[in-house]
Amino acid sequence: MTDAYESRQGRKEAAVNKAVCVVMVSTRTLKYLCLSCMIIQFDKNNLQINEASQGESFYLCFPGLSTYKELIHRVFTRNNGWSRPPYNSLNVSYEVGDDPLSVDRNILSIRQNTGSDRVIYMNQQHGDTVISLKSGFAAAHERVFEADALITDIPGTAIMVKQADCQGIILFDPVTKVVAVVHSGWKGSVKNISGKVVEKMCGDFDVSPENIIAAIGPSLGPCCGEFTTYEEIFPAHFKDFMSGMAHFDLWAITEKQLTDSGVKNEKIEKAGICTRCNTGLFYSYRGEGVTGRFATVAMIKKNQ
Ligand SMILES: [Zn+2]
Repeated sequence: MTDAYESRQGRKEAAVNKAVCVVMVSTRTLKYLCLSCMIIQFDKNNLQINEASQGESFYLCFPGLSTYKELIHRVFTRNNGWSRPPYNSLNVSYEVGDDPLSVDRNILSIRQNTGSDRVIYMNQQHGDTVISLKSGFAAAHERVFEADALITDIPGTAIMVKQADCQGIILFDPVTKVVAVVHSGWKGSVKNISGKVVEKMCGDFDVSPENIIAAIGPSLGPCCGEFTTYEEIFPAHFKDFMSGMAHFDLWAITEKQLTDSGVKNEKIEKAGICTRCNTGLFYSYRGEGVTGRFATVAMIKKNQ
């Protein structure tokens, strides 16, 4: 009993530190439900309300990033899409065995929800290729890149990463109005893709790293980040981020890589939500095996 109680208390305290709000949007209502004070609703009640309300999208956003009105960002949950089990329901990957027509409809829903002209995404490689989409690209047709991060300053162009346990990271510079999305699993952590994106934002768009606002989304947490072969796959300094026997805090690794690249620590938000522990809201490859991929999307608004 004591353990269970302490565990619940621990969750509540962890919830207080989460820098994320759950947002429920429809054409009629706009409701913010802060995780800091409403962990119970986050677990169950909101989902029931949401599932009962047709036409609503359900996503998370970061309070810090939300203060910038020139930016739209969303961490979509797995709910309110068209895909059938085991991909239910807002799956955005064509690569996992889902009906492509369902994926088409899901991505269209995201495009409509964000009010974007187009949604650009990648065939993610677990590599460190970073693509810059500059204003000249606006005239080009829509295409899919072999890469793991996109950077753009084009208003109305939404950039998206697909996840099931990997990190989706948003980087935004309010000075130059440049935004990036990053897909980083453990291989991305080893390759320091986050640091490389900061470097490319600076090189290609004249961004100063100290201006960047960063957000690390729901992904595999230290609770579930077990890597039994860590001695072979991780560099030695990752041991500083061990959170238990063979467990690693990949969120903290990303945070360190960003600060090493010049991003200020106080400008980094972390969702602090483990996907494997929350399969009702997010896809988890480790938790489910055959499953979908959820979307993290960011876009510079038009007419700013
Ligand atoms: Zn977990």
